[in-house]
Amino acid sequence: TMPKVALIGRPNVGKSTLFNRLIRSNRAITHDMPGVTRDRMEGTVKRSGKVFTLIDTGGITLDSHSAVTEGPAGIRGFEAEILRQSKEAMEEADLLCFVVDGRDGLTPFDDHLANYLRKAGKPILLIVNKVDGEEKAELLMSDFHILGFQMLPCSAEHGFNLRALDEEILSFL
Ligand code: GDP
Ligand code: MG
Repeated sequence: TMPKVALIGRPNVGKSTLFNRLIRSNRAITHDMPGVTRDRMEGTVKRSGKVFTLIDTGGITLDSHSAVTEGPAGIRGFEAEILRQSKEAMEEADLLCFVVDGRDGLTPFDDHLANYLRKAGKPILLIVNKVDGEEKAELLMSDFHILGFQMLPCSAEHGFNLRALDEEILSFL
């Protein structure tokens, strides 16, 4: 069966924008505001004679957003919903692409999610998105070295480094 690659991360970091770029279509809804209705999406990526399934997580539905969801580690609300969707992806994916926002830097929830993802014992690639130009890469990545993941800067919106990202993903499969 086809290997699966999951995009995981808190809302608004650019997962769906990245998903659309990688599958070269516009199937996932992107939005400025976290918390709008978005479904979990799957797409197929074909590159260099390889094929994999890409999963866009973080479909935060209005229901799950407004409901008081009890999640792992006693975290409630939409963060619990992110953890729940991440858990699903962690179980089925062969590679976990942990997407963060380079302009925001490392947030406490990113840190929490990082520790959570480690428990899957699966390969993790840290994607530092919103690096809208090579000259900013070093500065915007500096916060994230501490996580100890293999990492790659990119800009889903402006296309920076996306070919390198393709190749990096394929190298895990
Ligand atoms: P998701 O919630 O993680 O799926 O994030 P979205 O893909 O919906 O994107 C959230 C917002 O970030 C949207 O306004 C995007 O246009 C914007 N965005 C996504 N990628 C980039 C990027 O590389 N650079 C910049 N500047 N903005 C981005
Ligand atoms: Mg999204």
